Order: sequence, then C-alpha cells, then structure tokens
Amino acid sequence: MNITVLCGGVGAARFVKALLAVEPGVTVSAVVNTGDDTELHGLHISPDIDTVIYTVAGAIDPERGWGLRDESWTAMRSLERYSQVRPSDSSAAPTWFNLGDQDLATHFYRTARLGEGASLCEVTAEIAQAWSLPIKVVPMTNDRVRTRVRLRDSDSVIDFQEYFVKHRHSLAVSEVTFEGAESAAFVGNAELEGSDLVVIAPSNPIVSIGPIRAISGVDERLAARRDSVVAISPIIAGAALKGPADRMLSELGLKSSVVGVAELYASICGTLIIDSADADLASAVEATGMRCIVTNTIMGKPESDHALIQAVLGVVS
Ligand code: GDP
Ligand code: CA
Repeated sequence: MNITVLCGGVGAARFVKALLAVEPGVTVSAVVNTGDDTELHGLHISPDIDTVIYTVAGAIDPERGWGLRDESWTAMRSLERYSQVRPSDSSAAPTWFNLGDQDLATHFYRTARLGEGASLCEVTAEIAQAWSLPIKVVPMTNDRVRTRVRLRDSDSVIDFQEYFVKHRHSLAVSEVTFEGAESAAFVGNAELEGSDLVVIAPSNPIVSIGPIRAISGVDERLAARRDSVVAISPIIAGAALKGPADRMLSELGLKSSVVGVAELYASICGTLIIDSADADLASAVEATGMRCIVTNTIMGKPESDHALIQAVLGVVS
C-alpha cells in the first residue's frame, strides 16, 4: 500500500515511525511542513523535516524529542563570546535557538546545496538518503513560506520560531498567517496522486498542517478524495501532549477538543481517529460529517501502536 503522510514535526515523526514498525511493507511518503523553517547564522534550518528524518532514522534525542541523541553543544557555548560585542541592532550569533554540533552538519549541508542551486526537495532527498531512510521525505514546497504569529497583547507580528522557541509559546496568539503560501507551488502532488491513503498526522492543526493547507490546490485535492483521507487527533482529552496546539485553538476561537479538530478537517478528511479518552465525543465528531474511530492514540507502546496503525489502514482496506 502507498501511504502519504502530511507531517509537522514530533507528532508526525512518531506516527511514521510507528507505521513502519507495525507495517514494514508499506511505501511511505512524508510531505512535511516548512512554514517554520528559519535562517540562523546564515543557515537554512528545516525543523520539521529534520525531526521526521532523525526520528525515522532512530537518531532523535528521545528525551528532548528534537535534535540528535548523544549531541554536544560546543558551538552553541562558543557563541556566547560574541554576545558582549554584538551591536544592539545586530542579531548575529543568536543563542536562543539551540543547534547541536552534529545537527549543525545537516544545516551546513542543506545551506551549501541550496546555495549551489539545488531545490529544497533535492536536498531533503539527499539528507534522507544519507540517513538511509526507508521512506521518501518531501518538503511541502520549494518556495519560501513563513509562518507568522500575531501576538494578542502587543498586536505585533513575529516569526514562528521566535514565538515557539524564544518565547516558549507562552504568549497568546490572535492570528496565524503563512507568508508566501498563496504563490508557493505544492511539491506533494505526485505523492498525493500515487497514494492509496493520505494520513493527516497528529500534528498541530494550525501551525503544522495549516501551512500545507494554505498552499493553493491542496485542500481541493484532499476534498476530492476525502474518503481515503484519515486524520489522527493531536488533541487528547482537550490537551496537546506537548506544545501549544490546545491553547492556540482556543486563542483563535476554535474548540480545544477533538470536535475542534473535526471542524477544521471535516471538509478534507473522511475519518478522524480520536483517543479512547475522548470516546464520549465520538457522536459530536460524527455530527461534523466525519466518520469517527476511537482507539488509543498515544504512540510509543507496541500493542497500542499496532491497534492505531490497523485503524488507520482499515480506512481503505
Ligand atoms: P512540532 O512541529 O514538533 O511541534 O510537532 P507536531 O505539530 O508534529 O506535533 C505536535 C502535536 O503532536 C501536539 O499537539 C501533540 O499533542 C501531538 N502528539 C505528539 N505525540 C503524539 C501521540 O503519540 N499521539 C497523538 N495523538 N498526538 C501526539
Ligand atoms: Ca514544527
């Protein structure tokens, strides 16, 4: 079976890992959000792509959930020397975004290849190959799309990573926009067309799946094959397992529950898989026009991963 997974970072990476563990025979393409890509130290950083690659390769740091295991931080520490001489209007040598020594090699390679004129798609394939990945990894676009966040209290607009990392997603958000998405070309058309099943991973619906959907044509393509699109709710019992998805939903006036997720996805996706903890909301999910499957959706344990993956595959078999 060919499966295309629409991916953010951690939730998506864990899903793809579980999928391959349970059903090693499937052919998987991951189409990954690049709205939270950023440039630091002159380097092009693609956090969600790297999280998917490192996780599937088994190289992710299991505690942090991002970056590489057995990482060292000499380069980061060495930047501190320059903080005393950095002019006040300069953003050189930032230390608020941690980049490990081994991880830097990935950013060096990506940046150098982009500089040589390679597309993000080509470079991502090369990096995935270097990590011997058994899946195809595709950035959602080769074009520049940047997620920007409007802060409720100051009404200022900042880059996603500034919100997410520098402010530790602690500030209330009043609007999320995807700069460049209107004119960006979607890269995953062949992956969507060639797949028997499309999975919307349990990623943040606003800032991880939102940028993919903001590219023109994507929602239409998903809606046209809605019956073979399945989503897994990243919200369990009203909360995100990690990160700001729950707060973001309510700050933007949406329901921070599986019903809020269903309302966002009902037009593009036929089935929503929700956690057993939310079983009492299944009929409210179905009232949005989606089929609802209830199972354990917290990944990481072989028995429950098996049940979740069987539920996902069951949507088309
Ligand atoms: P990021 O880009 O690294 O922030 O990650 P994503 O957008 O892919 O994922 C963040 C979301 O993944 C959070 O809302 C989590 O609740 C969700 N998530 C992480 N692990 C799991 C899991 O095991 N099961 C489910 N259902 N959701 C998960
Ligand atoms: Ca992300």
